[in-house]
Amino acid sequence: MLLERIENFEIFRPKMDSSKEVLHAIATFEVDISPAFPYMNAELGGWDYDQTNQVLLLKLSDGKWITLDPHKIAMRGARDLEECHALLAWIKGQINEIYDRRDHITPRYVSQAGLKIMEILKLLPMTNCKACGYPTCMAYAAALREGEISLNDCPPLREEKYREKRDKLQTYLESYGWRALDAE
Ligand code: SF4
Repeated sequence: MLLERIENFEIFRPKMDSSKEVLHAIATFEVDISPAFPYMNAELGGWDYDQTNQVLLLKLSDGKWITLDPHKIAMRGARDLEECHALLAWIKGQINEIYDRRDHITPRYVSQAGLKIMEILKLLPMTNCKACGYPTCMAYAAALREGEISLNDCPPLREEKYREKRDKLQTYLESYGWRALDAE
């Protein structure tokens, strides 16, 4: 087990706006968990992975973020104490479980943050038809980059005449480890 013991776990309200109904938390420990990062990036679809400084950023649903560095886990956006503890238990479990399976995982060193909105836009139908619920293809491309929606949310992309674009877009997204926030 890579991470056995958390030495400190501090939960607090953000000082910038203490009226916000969210909590932040920081867990610290002596062991270096960074060897797990490229495998976690592959398995959990890290939003950003800075290999030089060994920082992995995971973007979860509902505005929650988890930042991992070698000796620290920082969590942002939990609604209450119970969720803070549940998130910590979840990420600690993921670190250990994924690290244990690392021999069967292809590590990933790129991340979703490297995706370019304009590159995504070029592979969309670019008709601004609004069928996705967004006012423009550009707005859809931005949401897609963030992982807030999926390719299926653009109905024209399912048409045969856009098949080549869709295939290229899928390949481009996957090359950066993209996944929608509600993906399993
Ligand atoms: S449904 Fe597709 S083509 Fe239509 S606006 Fe949205 S992204 Fe553009």
